[in-house]
Amino acid sequence: MTVYIILIVVVAVVLLGIGGTMLLRPRGMHGVRRGRARELDLTGSMPRLDDTSAAAGTATATAPAPPEQRQARPEQRQGPPPPALEKPPPSAGRMIRLRARLARSQSGFGSALLALLSRDRLDDDTWDELEEVLITADVGVTPARQITSDLRTKVKVEGTRTADEVREMLRAELLAQVETPASRALRTQRHEGRPAVILVVGVNGTGKTTTCGKLARSLVGDGQTVVLGAADTFRAAAADQLQTWGERVGAHVVRSDKDQADPASVAFDAVSTGIEQEADVVLVDTAGRLHTKNDLMDELGKVKRVIEKRTAVDEVLLVLDATTGQNGLRQARVFAEVVDVTGIVLTKLDGTAKGGIVIAVQRELGVPVKLVGLGEGPDDLAPFDPATFIDAILGG
Ligand code: GDP
Ligand code: GDP
Ligand code: MG
Repeated sequence: MTVYIILIVVVAVVLLGIGGTMLLRPRGMHGVRRGRARELDLTGSMPRLDDTSAAAGTATATAPAPPEQRQARPEQRQGPPPPALEKPPPSAGRMIRLRARLARSQSGFGSALLALLSRDRLDDDTWDELEEVLITADVGVTPARQITSDLRTKVKVEGTRTADEVREMLRAELLAQVETPASRALRTQRHEGRPAVILVVGVNGTGKTTTCGKLARSLVGDGQTVVLGAADTFRAAAADQLQTWGERVGAHVVRSDKDQADPASVAFDAVSTGIEQEADVVLVDTAGRLHTKNDLMDELGKVKRVIEKRTAVDEVLLVLDATTGQNGLRQARVFAEVVDVTGIVLTKLDGTAKGGIVIAVQRELGVPVKLVGLGEGPDDLAPFDPATFIDAILGG
């Protein structure tokens, strides 16, 4: 008899234990998921979205955890202690810090222009060459002509030139081309008691998810609270990628527990969570693999419309890969036609000598470059600063 009682008690305890673990697992990402030891590799080995072989059913529901779970104290947790949250650096002065990356990659373009302008005799061939250098650097044909003709006029007026004068003249001309009257500030302040909402769009592989992750870090570094929405629901790996970024800095990630979920629904939930948690900013990552302009318009239009049921979309950032040049620009134009883009994020500017794309894209889309990606590292995203950019191009 006592043997039976002991047996029943043992079975009950084991069942309770298993039940408890299963209940806890899929929820409380702040409590459990963050506590798990995870490989955190944010760079090279990040799954690419077009790499379907990596698709894995690892999605885990992270519907907003109830407050008591979110607040779970370390001593109440089982298993290893959570890795300490990282404390990212603030955004100020980043472009200066990353400027060497630009100088390295842009050297061809800036020094070629300086060399041409420093020739004793500036004949028609030299001006043609100069225009060619600009076009090769992705400045675009029309701006290249204009820069060339402006410089030609200045040289005629000023006559003799010292090396310093040449540099200053070129600097002023390029700066004038890069500057725009539009503000480059990101709208990341709460308003009317609601978080600021930033929608991140662009072609597959340009760096959207990475940018969301880096931007979340940078905002956290500036003292803001961030909710990330994984509205690229094409496959779970994309949400995993975003989640890894979020977990490092304590940004709540809202995602769906199933592949191919409705992106608009995830965006809606992310914004609702942001409102509920009184976050400062909600960043919504989207998919870029839509085949036709109509698909794109339907999906992005719906995401935006559904968010606007809760609050305004403050920024639509278009992510553009600087290494794709005119081709990337063509794709960017399609996005700009279907959503009202408020700012451009130019990524991979560390990997190209063609920085002229900054001038081309601003002219083409009439929207300022607000952020630049200068590497795969977690803090390699900087607010765009024209003077630092031009100085780096000219090797100053
Ligand atoms: P998505 O498909 O638009 O979400 O693109 P991902 O964010 O997944 O990025 C695609 C690849 O570009 C990843 O390997 C990133 O590490 C890389 N990447 C993103 N931004 C930069 C950047 O500024 N510089 C460099 N060198 N690589 C970047
Ligand atoms: P329409 O396609 O423009 O008519 O937009 P709907 O109002 O039908 O919403 C489209 C999608 O957004 C829905 O299928 C849901 O996934 C999501 N959505 C809209 N409203 C809500 C809401 O109140 N709660 C949630 N969770 N999702 C919503
Ligand atoms: Mg992505």
